[in-house]
Amino acid sequence: MSRLKEAKRRRRKLQWLTAGLLPVVVVGGWFYPLLGFFIPFCMLVGMGIGLFRGRQWCNWLCPRGAFLDATTERISPRRVIPRFVKGFPLRAAVVAFLAAMMMVQIIRRWPDPSAIGMFFVVMLTLTTLLALVLAVTVHPRTWCSVCPIGSLANLVGRRRYPLCIDSDLCTDCGLCGKVCPIQVKPYESKSTAVQAVKDGDCLKCGLCVAGCPVEALSLGEGEDGETGIDHGGERAGNPVQRAAAGQPRNG
Ligand code: SF4
Ligand code: SF4
Repeated sequence: MSRLKEAKRRRRKLQWLTAGLLPVVVVGGWFYPLLGFFIPFCMLVGMGIGLFRGRQWCNWLCPRGAFLDATTERISPRRVIPRFVKGFPLRAAVVAFLAAMMMVQIIRRWPDPSAIGMFFVVMLTLTTLLALVLAVTVHPRTWCSVCPIGSLANLVGRRRYPLCIDSDLCTDCGLCGKVCPIQVKPYESKSTAVQAVKDGDCLKCGLCVAGCPVEALSLGEGEDGETGIDHGGERAGNPVQRAAAGQPRNG
């Protein structure tokens, strides 16, 4: 099995582990509103991970992101996510709107835990319906481009656990952009040397690392994230670290 296929298979298995939690909360929450508190829990964990690993939470740990990938990948037309969706103004507006709504509703319903939980269930249900419509009409991760947790993780953790590209090795084949689940194009960060990929929406999934035919990409510090790929020996470490250590970039 090719490295890319193996990485995809491992990732999908992990996604199925968490994807099932989404219907449990969306459906079960209408009967047991306290399940709604799973949502602020996810927000805190997602942003906490964001401080150290950027958007890695969104790769398979987020039940909604995992659910969208696992259930709509084959039926989605996988169109290009419009630029304005990924742009700062819309993302800031979504964060501000949802944060304001959360504050108002929590104050209004305080101190009734069931009423507060129900608010979270309603919010999750509505945003999940929107995310599903966007997934089957545009791309599975369209909603993820404006999701407040993803946007905040992008903001605080875009330099953490970086995906790096070795510009000398890259042949501009474009394969990394094709396999990326959120339409990041690592080769667009190429410059004259080894370079961290600038797009903070990278989920650190490692699919592009596994797919690059010339091993021009690497992820994190001395490991390839969740791909389980072992480049072995002097290939350990990202291109920046290999260059700093005086090791040949191409092993
Ligand atoms: S897959 Fe590798 S060689 Fe191809 S564009 Fe991406 S980084 Fe460059
Ligand atoms: S750029 Fe690579 S590591 Fe980042 S999300 Fe895309 S495929 Fe995954």
